[in-house]
Amino acid sequence: MLGGRTNHWGRISLRFGPKDFKGYSNDGVGADWPITYDDIKPYYDKVDRLIGIFGSVENIPNEPDGIFLPPPKPRLHELFIKKGAEKANIPVIPSRLSILTKTINEDRGACFFCAQCGRNCSMAKADFSSSNVLIYPALKTGKLDVIANAMAREVLTDTEGKATGVSYVNKEDMLEYQVEGRVVILAASACETARLLLNSKSQRHPNGLANSSNVVGKYLQDSNGAAMGGYLPQLFGRKRYNEDGVGGMHVYTPWWGDNKN
Ligand SMILES: Cc1cc2nc3c(=O)[nH]c(=O)nc-3n(C[C@H](O)[C@H](O)[C@H](O)COP(=O)(O)OP(=O)(O)OC[C@H]3O[C@@H](n4cnc5c(N)ncnc54)[C@H](O)[C@@H]3O)c2cc1C
Repeated sequence: MLGGRTNHWGRISLRFGPKDFKGYSNDGVGADWPITYDDIKPYYDKVDRLIGIFGSVENIPNEPDGIFLPPPKPRLHELFIKKGAEKANIPVIPSRLSILTKTINEDRGACFFCAQCGRNCSMAKADFSSSNVLIYPALKTGKLDVIANAMAREVLTDTEGKATGVSYVNKEDMLEYQVEGRVVILAASACETARLLLNSKSQRHPNGLANSSNVVGKYLQDSNGAAMGGYLPQLFGRKRYNEDGVGGMHVYTPWWGDNKN
C-alpha cells in the first residue's frame, strides 16, 4: 500500500527515552545500543516539527517531551480513568499523537474530530501518514516516480558486491523488471526487508546482503496488544454531551513500573 502502515496506524508517536537505549545497563537484559538518546534527540525534534504531534510537557525522565502542539481535552470517560488511576498512583497524562490540533503549514488543516483517522486523513491531511505528509508533497516536486503494483524481488549488486539497483516483479503482467540506482534504500518493513536481504544472494554475499553477522531475519520481535473494557454505572442514563475527539485516546499512561521488578 502506498504509504505503508501509517495509512491506518494509531498515530501514537512516543520517543524512546534514555533508558530504552541502555536496556542492559538498566535491567541486565538485552543489549545497550551503541547510541544514546542525546544522539537521536535532534532528529526527533526535526520529525516533530515536520509531522506535528500534540502532547504536554511533563518532565518525566524516561518519557522525553517533544515539540508539542496543544493536546485535546480529556473526555468524560477519560476523566474517570484519570481519577481512578490517580487513586492507584498510576500517572495519566495527555496522549502524544501525530494529529494536528493546529495548522502547521498551508497544505494541512487541523483535526475537526471526524474520527476517520483509521484510513488516513483525506479530509484535512491533519494526520501523519507517509502518504499525506511525505509522498504526495514529494510527487508535487516532479522529482519522484512511484512504481505501484511492483513487488521487489532482490537487490542487484555488482562484482564488488555493491548495490546497483532492484529487480521487481510487475503484479499486472507478472514480468520481471530492473531499476538502477546510485543508492538503494530498503524500507519494506522489518520482516520483508530482511527477506529481501536474504533473497539478494551473490558470489560476494552467499548468505544474503548485509548479512556478515548471519543474524539477518533472526531475533525479530513484534509488538503485542491486549484490550479490556468495563461499564461505569455512574454514566448510565446521564445527559449526553458532545464527546467527539481525535481518532484515538486523549490520555495515556506512560510506563511507571520498575522493569527490575
Ligand atoms: C493498525 C496499526 C496500528 C499501529 N499503531 C501504531 C502507533 O500508534 N504508534 C506506532 O509507533 N506504531 C504503530 N503501528 C506500527 C507502525 O505503523 C509501523 O511500525 C510502521 O509504520 C512501519 O513502517 P515501515 O516503513 O517500517 O513499514 P511499512 O509501513 O509496513 O511500509 C512498508 C512498505 O513496503 C511495501 N512493501 C513490502 N514488501 C514489498 C516488496 N517486496 N516490494 C515493494 N514494496 C514492498 C509495503 O506495501 C509498504 O508500503 C501500528 C501498526 C498498525 C498496523
